Amino acid sequence: MRWEPIVKSENTRKASNLGDYERARREFTWEQARSALSGLPRTRGLNIAYEAVDRHAFGESARACALRWIDKHDEVTRISYGELRELTNRFANVLHDLGITGGERVYTLLGRIPALYVSVLGTLKAGGVVAPLFSAFGPEPVAERLRIGEGAVLVTTPRLYRNKISQVRAGLPHLRHVLLVGEGEAQPGTVRLEDALAHASPTYEIAATAPEDAALLHFTSGTTGSPKGAVHVHDAVVAHHATAYYGLDLRPDDVFWCTADPGWVTGTSYGIVAPLTHGATLVSDEGEFDARRWYRVLSEQRVTVWYTAPTALRMLMRHGSEPASRYDLSALRYVASVGEPLNPEVVVWAQDALGMPVHDNWWQTETGAIMISNFPGEEVRPGSMGRPLPGIEAGLLERGDDGRARVDQGRVREMPGADAEGELALRPGWPSMFRGYLHDDARYAASFADGWYLTGDIAARDADGYYWFVGRADDVIKSAGHLVGPFEVESALMEHPAVAEVGVIGKPDPVAGERVKAFVSLRSGHQPSEELRGELLAFSRRRLGAVAPKELAFDDDLPHTRSGKVMRRLLRSRELGLPEGDLSTLERT
Ligand code: ATP
Ligand code: MG
Repeated sequence: MRWEPIVKSENTRKASNLGDYERARREFTWEQARSALSGLPRTRGLNIAYEAVDRHAFGESARACALRWIDKHDEVTRISYGELRELTNRFANVLHDLGITGGERVYTLLGRIPALYVSVLGTLKAGGVVAPLFSAFGPEPVAERLRIGEGAVLVTTPRLYRNKISQVRAGLPHLRHVLLVGEGEAQPGTVRLEDALAHASPTYEIAATAPEDAALLHFTSGTTGSPKGAVHVHDAVVAHHATAYYGLDLRPDDVFWCTADPGWVTGTSYGIVAPLTHGATLVSDEGEFDARRWYRVLSEQRVTVWYTAPTALRMLMRHGSEPASRYDLSALRYVASVGEPLNPEVVVWAQDALGMPVHDNWWQTETGAIMISNFPGEEVRPGSMGRPLPGIEAGLLERGDDGRARVDQGRVREMPGADAEGELALRPGWPSMFRGYLHDDARYAASFADGWYLTGDIAARDADGYYWFVGRADDVIKSAGHLVGPFEVESALMEHPAVAEVGVIGKPDPVAGERVKAFVSLRSGHQPSEELRGELLAFSRRRLGAVAPKELAFDDDLPHTRSGKVMRRLLRSRELGLPEGDLSTLERT
């Protein structure tokens, strides 16, 4: 194995002890996970919003806090399960009164504000399909996604409507209603959500949705190309619930904070649904990322379980351990990360600065829920994504010349045992598996072979069954006969004390095929210099040998997707002077 665990983590005791990982896997069934939920009382159907809200909104527990919302000015608003039940009922009635029928698509273009939670859950109650968008999208990406999904309703703010929708609305014949939230002048052709909610009835009988009815439409991050619309069904809630238990260690008395943008699948599966299905308290912060603010939220809200992303952790790390020591993080007991590779360096830093390791986990928009995770209460291997959760069967498939799984007359070959490397594949059958790409059946069909779902990611497995991310099949660099995963190179550079974040690409090279180039942003207190460049190149050569980068540029402003991933394809196209491609999900600062 090329990767050795850097630390044997003894510091996972804050996580619950779920017992033996192997036993949990043996004993788990999706049927049993399903029985932990109640299903719709009368119709025996299944509805995500019922499991998230109404199930807890009776008797004593109706008074428990569902949502603790911190606005930009640090005012905290608390919404109980009972109140959330009523608000979402009102929203469902608003849709009903507007003539929206089951299966129609309701889009949200909102930041983290209470109306987001009310709209998403209210739409699900009404049997509609929710499509959350990044509020930072420009007019064209919003219009394009509304067109693809034939959005019938859009919930947004007056400012976002004026800046992004009003000029494109004429080209959106399906968009029948726009609901506006919050202060701002009235706009023609829109309805004020507050007024509509005030006039709507607070009682509602939840639509008799069946487990296989469409519920969510999520667009992928667009890291590798233009975004795809993945369709999920109500049955997904079974996986949201179970994976939050096994992958995030979530329990009913937890105060849970998920920093993912609401326009990304994580912002729904774990930023809204999963914690509520457990009856936990969800913390939502409207503020922008800022290291001090985040530490403050963690300490003042007494957050117990925190779900975030590598880029955020790297930004915290950039400021060192000292800021963390100034805050009381004693309530925090579990930290998890998703979205892109989590460098071992970050896991080790967290152990020191936060007093616990970060539990990396892996999944995709398509999988709807966590698939592979460092298991609570067991050893965390820095740099590894962990092991398949109970109920999930993963495998590594032999790759062909194009870097993807080799499919020969419909058959694939699984790489057996330890030290295997190949395209990461999953056996379909878990409830939150996507049921299609909208208007792209061919692409959906091409994602399966020989009974496997092909993820497009390359991974390796060690002797104990931990999976290690190598790269996306289309990111992997072929240099002088070596296959180079950008992540491996990036992580090696991150071990240097001056380095905060790295993006690595392959550039065509007449001799080597491709040569490795690294773009490096520095930690505070370090300045770019020729000397530092030489030092970093030598540093990575010592660690990586032949696969070390040959070129290195300093870049203080690495391009990220809105979901927080380094956009390597953009680094590459800029470097090579190629067209920049679809930039709708690029985070603009
Ligand atoms: P697109 O499919 O549009 O190119 P995307 O793949 O980034 O974008 P998402 O569904 O948001 O869209 O992200 C899933 C991908 O993110 C995974 O396939 C993987 O490449 C990466 N990823 C997620 N979690 C991890 C992780 N823990 N370690 C490494 N990579 C991860
Ligand atoms: Mg993808």
